Amino acid sequence: MGGVEGVVVSGSTRVVGLLGFPVLHSLSPEMQNCAFRSLGLDFVYVPFCVEPSELGRATLALGPLGLTGVNVTIPHKMAIMQYLDEVSDEAGLVGAVNTVHVCDGRLKGYTTDGRGLLRSLSEEAGFTAAGKKVILLGAGGTARSVGVALASAGAREVIVAGRTPKRAEELAAFLQTKTGVRTGALPLADRELRSGVEDADLVLNTTPVGMYPDVEAPPPVDPRILPREALVCDLVYNPVETTLLASARRRGQRTLSGLGMLAYQGALSFEIWTGRPAPATLMKQVLERRLLTSR
Ligand code: NAP
Repeated sequence: MGGVEGVVVSGSTRVVGLLGFPVLHSLSPEMQNCAFRSLGLDFVYVPFCVEPSELGRATLALGPLGLTGVNVTIPHKMAIMQYLDEVSDEAGLVGAVNTVHVCDGRLKGYTTDGRGLLRSLSEEAGFTAAGKKVILLGAGGTARSVGVALASAGAREVIVAGRTPKRAEELAAFLQTKTGVRTGALPLADRELRSGVEDADLVLNTTPVGMYPDVEAPPPVDPRILPREALVCDLVYNPVETTLLASARRRGQRTLSGLGMLAYQGALSFEIWTGRPAPATLMKQVLERRLLTSR
């Protein structure tokens, strides 16, 4: 059970889990099972490897099997929405779901990624989005979730810097239309980015650049072009300190790893399923222990 000893499963145990493809390296089972055990809750978290062609059958079986809920990860975050009875306003806006709650046989979808990031920014870096200028590096699914969350939290401006200009422009237009925030799109290249980032308060890497095993990859942006007072955050959490964060730190900039967001989005899922405050500090410690000692 992902390093969690002494888990006892009985007929009254509430089951939650993860639907993904693959799920082999997920850290969520260990994090969630440790959290349940620490509060003495009779819950167990199980990873389920579900092929895309089986997603419908797997989702529709959650109620009949008596599961309390699931997390949803790549590649199912968008596709699962068609099988749900209801989605939260935030998940509807983002167009993706990472948490499902089964309540009275009905399936309700949520997204906790954006709020997980906001909580990490506030609790770990004392950063609030209201009135701030944000640069998103990358224009994929996570950029969309966190862009919506930052804009909804009152960011002054969100600039999307993308490798594929069309995707960056589309995300910028989407954010502007859906949230009313001022936006812009730039190519993800130091020369073009230099003038756009001058007065940025937060620079957020949402690309997988720097992620294990390619940990020596050059950062997606050279921190020397970023304002010294900007907070540099990387959503990649493995390694905990990426090449982007290491070079920003050496330059004296404030940095924040994606590990906190991972813990807090899981804590929010925990709260949806159990109705209890999550032991977020413990959940972060579980991730730190795993990520800082695994290699
Ligand atoms: P995605 O939908 O595939 O989007 C990835 C984005 O990164 C795309 O815009 C893509 O560019 C860009 N990209 C990929 N490789 C690149 C490269 N070599 N150079 C420049 N840009 C590149 O992926 P996602 O689901 O958003 O996930 C992105 C990252 O966020 C992953 O590393 C994931 O682990 C991390 N994440 C972290 C948390 C957390 O809790 N900390 C939660 C969710 C995700 P194109 O537009 O050109 O394709």
